[in-house]
Amino acid sequence: MKITILGSGTAVPSLERNSSGILIQNQGTNSLIDCGYGTLHQLLRLKITYLDIDRIYFTHNHPDHIYDLVPLLFAGRYPGAPREKVLEIVAGPGFRDFFDGLLKAYQGWLTPRTYAINVIEQDEEIREYDGLNVTTKKVNHLPISRGYRIIDQKGRVAAFSGDTDSCEAMVELGKNADLMVLECAMPDEQKIEGHLSPTPAARLAQKAQCKKLCLTHFYPPCDLAGFRDIVEREYTGELFFAEDLMEFQL
Ligand SMILES: [Zn+2]
Ligand SMILES: [Zn+2]
Repeated sequence: MKITILGSGTAVPSLERNSSGILIQNQGTNSLIDCGYGTLHQLLRLKITYLDIDRIYFTHNHPDHIYDLVPLLFAGRYPGAPREKVLEIVAGPGFRDFFDGLLKAYQGWLTPRTYAINVIEQDEEIREYDGLNVTTKKVNHLPISRGYRIIDQKGRVAAFSGDTDSCEAMVELGKNADLMVLECAMPDEQKIEGHLSPTPAARLAQKAQCKKLCLTHFYPPCDLAGFRDIVEREYTGELFFAEDLMEFQL
């Protein structure tokens, strides 16, 4: 599977770092992990349109992880290029209520006319989607938050935290993974609850023994110049700092 970081940024709008979104391409399918604002534009840079997305796995429903779902649904109603294929949405328990509320708030303007949406609430379980084996566990951010472990047909493993603080569940999701994409929202000295910073992120990754670690979701105080030294004190695998449109071929 091929993994592309669409947004390495956060809730704070930035021209350098789009808000959260990751593209997973595998055997002709395009899936997203989160779809924060600007994600659809980032996809266009890869020549992928909103119509090409088969499935979205949401880690949680904060706007910087979810908000481009609104233009995706609205554009899907455009009669010049109506969406026909099913859109599948996978998210933690409680998402269906949130989604119904969103459709209601827009009074029908997001509701599909030419295609179906299949919302799947996945709690802490394993399911298969188009040949990908997907494990979810509750991570330490919001009650709805779920982290993902995705295994492709060749046995390659990728793990995605969304937003999280330190937690055993994320260690398990990232266990021996070929790649773990882990949030690192703030520097150690400004760490806030519900998010990671370099030292706890490095400890989590070392415990998981993931082969490659990609840190992402950097708020403006993050000065990456000092981060590598801090992380490498604890983590001995291969380390990447996400940039928009960075790719991993697993
Ligand atoms: Zn969040
Ligand atoms: Zn976030």
